[in-house]
Amino acid sequence: MPQNFIPVDLHCHSNYSDGALPVNELISLAAANGGRYLALTDHDTVSGIKEARLCAAEAGINLIAGVEISVTWQNNCLLHILGLGIDENNQQLIDQLNHLQQNRLERGHKIAESLAKAGIADAFNGAMAYCTNPQALSRTHFAQFLVANGHAKHNRVFDQYLTSGKPGYVMQTWASLADAVAWIINSGGVAVIAHPARYKLSKSKIINLITEFKSYGGTGMEVISSSHSLSDEHLFGGLCKATNLLASIGSDFHRADHYRKIKVGINKTPPDNLPMIFDSLGISLSC
Ligand code: AMP
Ligand code: MN
Ligand code: MN
Ligand code: MN
Repeated sequence: MPQNFIPVDLHCHSNYSDGALPVNELISLAAANGGRYLALTDHDTVSGIKEARLCAAEAGINLIAGVEISVTWQNNCLLHILGLGIDENNQQLIDQLNHLQQNRLERGHKIAESLAKAGIADAFNGAMAYCTNPQALSRTHFAQFLVANGHAKHNRVFDQYLTSGKPGYVMQTWASLADAVAWIINSGGVAVIAHPARYKLSKSKIINLITEFKSYGGTGMEVISSSHSLSDEHLFGGLCKATNLLASIGSDFHRADHYRKIKVGINKTPPDNLPMIFDSLGISLSC
């Protein structure tokens, strides 16, 4: 493990959602990188957790059961809320995630219709060919299909096709913030705002979000993330301290690639004075 890193990663994806690796390979890679505490946080599904527990036990990794829930906040803002330390057998959580997975499939058909109008045929089956778990059909799988068929370069495909106003973008209403936090808490977990810099919210909107999130019982916010710059770390670390949220840390690893050097299983050491979420999850790094 590189200097100034810690063996904790509270955010990553397998091919149960839009990650490239099967759970066993993801966990072996995290162990090879020196990881000790790993949360599997697939989008809107906990289907990979059981297998992850078995693989983690073999690899000497402490698995934290997780999920990354898609949320629609204030009508049109897409947020991701992590549930960490959840019980993957909790019936309410499973039922509600099933509902979101249904929405994913319906949205997938609408994305394909929309792309067909733009002259790109059979995108639903095309995207599905990249999707190991059909319930978790994601824009990432459409991106893979579009790139493989020469419609866009990998670094431009979201901007050209899959974001608001573009031919393959479909507006979708996900869970409410209140519901997502409640499902997480009711299943024994802690709720964390994922990669807050990604939402491009003004400072006053971020404060509104944190205030509302805390009023529902939310606990933490990611500070160290592959989506964050150094100045994002300062900003969101400061906001954690100011609002008594606990800081979280996650690679958001999806795949090994040559343009973003993200390692699963380990992360930059957080600053000493940042209150971390570790105690809530039984993470102890003292030995
Ligand atoms: P979905 O949950 O199906 O709407 O897809 C969102 C996923 O697409 C995120 O979890 C990211 O993995 C990926 N994603 C979103 N925006 C981008 C982007 N601009 N470039 C690459 N991947 C992206
Ligand atoms: Mn993703
Ligand atoms: Mn996310
Ligand atoms: Mn993620």
